Amino acid sequence: MKIAVVGTGYVGLVAGACLAETGNDVICADIDQGKISRLHAGEIPIYEPGLEPMVERNLREGRLTFTTDVAAAAAEAEVIFIAVGTPPGEDGSADLKHVLAVAETIGKSMPDDGPEKIVITKSTVPVGTAAKVKDAIRRHTSRAFHVCSNPEFLKEGAALQDFMKPDRVVVGVESEHARQRLGELYAPFVRTGNPILFMDISSAEITKYAANAMLATRISFMNTIAQLCEAVGADVGLVRQGIGTDERIGPGFLFAGIGYGGSCFPKDVKALVHTLQATGVDAAILEGVEKVNADQKKVLLRRAVERFGDDLSGRTFAVWGLSFKPETDDMREAPSLEVVRGLVKRGARVRAHDPEARDEAAHYFADLLAEGALQLCEHNYDCLEGSDALLILTEWLAYRNPDFDRIRESLAEPVILDGRNLWDPARMAGLGFEYTSIGRTPAAAPAEAGAAAD
Ligand code: NAD
Repeated sequence: MKIAVVGTGYVGLVAGACLAETGNDVICADIDQGKISRLHAGEIPIYEPGLEPMVERNLREGRLTFTTDVAAAAAEAEVIFIAVGTPPGEDGSADLKHVLAVAETIGKSMPDDGPEKIVITKSTVPVGTAAKVKDAIRRHTSRAFHVCSNPEFLKEGAALQDFMKPDRVVVGVESEHARQRLGELYAPFVRTGNPILFMDISSAEITKYAANAMLATRISFMNTIAQLCEAVGADVGLVRQGIGTDERIGPGFLFAGIGYGGSCFPKDVKALVHTLQATGVDAAILEGVEKVNADQKKVLLRRAVERFGDDLSGRTFAVWGLSFKPETDDMREAPSLEVVRGLVKRGARVRAHDPEARDEAAHYFADLLAEGALQLCEHNYDCLEGSDALLILTEWLAYRNPDFDRIRESLAEPVILDGRNLWDPARMAGLGFEYTSIGRTPAAAPAEAGAAAD
C-alpha cells in the first residue's frame, strides 16, 4: 500500500518504519526541516531501542522516504496517517490546530483521480475530532474519501515491539471500504491472534483516553496507598503483590513512585477532564488522579527539605535519572523537572546523570546549566563525590545493582532518597545507608555488635 505518515515524532516515525518493514511504500512528512534533514542523513532524532536499524534498513531498501512536502506526500498516498502532536491548550483541552492544518492540506491536495483516500487520525484526539477532520477536508474537495480513527497504544521505550505485536489494534470506521483496507494493512501485525477491534469512530476516540486515564488512575491510586503504608508502617510492595495477584486487578501499573510524567498521561488526563466537563459528566475521579500526581511529583523534594532544612544553600545533591521513565530520553512532564528546579530554587547545586536524556536535559535545564546550578555528569558515579544525598528519579536498569561501597564512600553523608523503590530497606540499612523510599518504612540501622550483646 502507498502510505503517508504526517508528523514524524515518536509515533509517526515508529509507525512509518514498522509499516515499511511489512512491505508498504511509506513516506513520512513533517514540517520540521531540521528533523527531516537529520533523518535523510540517517540520524534518528529520538532514542528508541531498535528504531535506528529498522529505519536504516527500510531507507536503504527504498520502502521508506522522508519529506517536508506534506501536500505532495498526501497527494501520492492511498492511506494517510495524521500523527502530529496534540498538546494541551490553555484550558487543558487537546489543541487540534496541527491535526486540522494537516486535514486542510489533505483536502487541498486531493487529486482528481486515483483510489479513494483513507485518512486516519493516529494522534490522540478527543471524541468528535474525526468529524472535524472530515469537515476540514470536505471544504476543499468534492472527491469521496474515508475518515477513520486508529489510536496508538505504543509505549516509549518499547515502541517497536508494541507496534509490531500490539495487544490489540483499535480502528473506528464508518465505511466497509476503510474497514477492509485497514484490516489488510494491520493483518501482518496480528498474526498470532490478537484482535483488530473495529468499532464506531466515537468509541475508538474514547478508547484511547480511557486507556491512558485508567493507567494514570492506577498509578495515583497506588501512590495514595503508599502514603497510607508510610503513615502506619506497612509495605506498599507487599500490598501490590497482594492485590496484583487478584485476576480481576492484574499486576501491571501498580508500582508506587514519584508520579507519572511523559508526553501522554498528563495531557490526556487533562484533556479527558475537559471533555467530561464539556459534556456535563462529573470528572471528580480524574481530577483526584491529577491532584494526587501533582503532589507525588514533589515527594522527594519534601523529603530533602525535611532532612536538610528549607534552606539548601551550600548543599549538593546527586540525581540519577532525568527521563520520565527508563528506556527513553523523553523528559516531557518528567518528575525530574520539578525535583531539580525545586532543589536549585532552595539554593542547592545538583549533579545529575541520565544514560540517554543528556541532550534533552541540556535543553530543559539550559538556564540552570548556564548559571552553574546544575552539572550533567558523564557517568552516574561522577555525581556522587561530596554530594549530601543521592536521589533516584528514574529506574534505569544500569542503576539497579550499583557498587554500594563506592556510593557510601563518595557521598558526604550516606543518604539515599529513592523515588523508585530500587532496593530493600533492610539491606540498605545494613549497608550503612540512611535510606527512604516510597510506601515503605525505612529500616533502622542495625545495632552495633557490642551494643547488641549488652
Ligand atoms: P511529537 O511531538 O514527537 O511529534 C509530532 C510531530 O508532528 C513533530 O515532529 C512536528 O514537527 C510534527 N508536526 C506538527 N504539525 C505538523 C504539520 N502541520 N504537518 C506535518 N508535521 C507536523 O509527538 P508524538 O509523541 O509522536 O505524538 C503524536 C501524537 O500521538 C499525539 O497526539 C500523542 O498524544 C499521540 N501518542 C503519543 C505516544 C507517545 O508515546 N509519544 C503514544 C501514543 C499516542
